[in-house]
Formats: sequence, structure tokens, C-alpha cells
Amino acid sequence: MLDEKATAQALAVMATKFPKVGSSLVADSDFHFLLAVILSAQTTDAAVNRVTPALFAAYPQPENLMQAQPIEVEKYISTLGLYHNKARYLVACARDLVNNFASQVPRNHRDLQSLAGVGRKTADVVLAERFHIPALAVDTHVERVSKRLAMVAMDASVLQTEKVLMTKIPKKEWIHAHHLFITWGRQVCTARNPACANCPLLTMCQEGHRRMNGVNI
Ligand code: SF4
Repeated sequence: MLDEKATAQALAVMATKFPKVGSSLVADSDFHFLLAVILSAQTTDAAVNRVTPALFAAYPQPENLMQAQPIEVEKYISTLGLYHNKARYLVACARDLVNNFASQVPRNHRDLQSLAGVGRKTADVVLAERFHIPALAVDTHVERVSKRLAMVAMDASVLQTEKVLMTKIPKKEWIHAHHLFITWGRQVCTARNPACANCPLLTMCQEGHRRMNGVNI
């Protein structure tokens, strides 16, 4: 397993290749960013960004959205996966914000996760991106890359992955590391065809060596 020092070295290599990383979700307020993160489940940020301008214009504040019927919201997001459920979550989330938080997006895990449609990962992303509160959201890219690089055991759960990474990466680096993992996972260490032959992390990556030797895991 990669220790803290090797993990830092791997992240430094990623940062050298991708010096500018960050969230690609576009939103003009905390409320709209929260909606965008809820919509991003099991779909790409680019797909979310295509539908959100019209959605945000139709529902500028939680008070507007809480009064909508989910079927009205579906019209704006029907190109996204799971849009029936997501429309229901958005309306319910807006209602929770108005009723429980004076229409403001809360700034802690517990309150965020009390909102409809908001789980730990969504809360982590909102805390990190909107409020700069250290968090290390584990999505499919973070999980895949950290496991392939043996920073985390292959059989670790999502929560275990988050906990282990938080011990191996300094707190002030969590948000940046999250973005590096995602970018690496999208551009280099993709799910089906990781670019191991040209990967600058190959020398420290057992999974890469296995793949180069023709043994896919
Ligand atoms: Fe991913 Fe391959 Fe690079 Fe390892 S060597 S990090 S498996 S692309």
C-alpha cells in the first residue's frame, strides 16, 4: 500500500500534469450549486451544465422551486438519468431549505444531509466548493484511482475509502486532491482503458504493472 509520503508524491505528479483543476459545475449561487450537485449523480457535469441555465432561470430561489410540481421540473432535466427521482428531490430539497434553514444552504454535514436528495458525497462537494470547508468527496473516479494506486484497499467501501484518504492526505490538501483524482480518472486512469503505457505513475502503480503484463483486475 502507498504510504502518506508516496501518496503525496503521486498527487504531486498529478498536479504537475494537471496544474489547473477544479469543479466544472456552473452555478450562480449556493442554492443553484446544491441543485447542480444533486443532478450530477450518475451523469456528467457537462450534461448537467447543459440543462441548468434554463432550470435556474425558472427557479431562481428555493421559494420558487418548492411551489413547483415535480412534473414541471422534469421538463428541464429530462435529458439526465434518473430525472423523475431527481425532480422530486429538487422540489423537496427546496422545501426543506425554506422550512428548516431560512432558504440558506447549511454549512455543515449534518444539516446538509438532512435535505432531500443530499447524501454524504453531495454534502462534501458543497462544503468544499461553496464554503471552502475541507472535505474529500469520494466519487467513482476518486475511488477507482486511489484503489488502483493502492492508496486504499481494493475491497474498501466508499466511506472507508474516504476515511483512509483523509488519514493519508493532509487536511489542507483534501479539496485539491479530490479534483486531482477526478481529473486523473477522467483523462488518464479511465475506467475501461487506463493509459498505463504512458502514465507517469506507472513505476509506483501495481495495477498498472498488472495491466501492462496483460492481467486485468
Ligand atoms: Fe491508472 Fe494505469 Fe496510471 Fe496506474 S499506471 S494510475 S492504473 S493509468
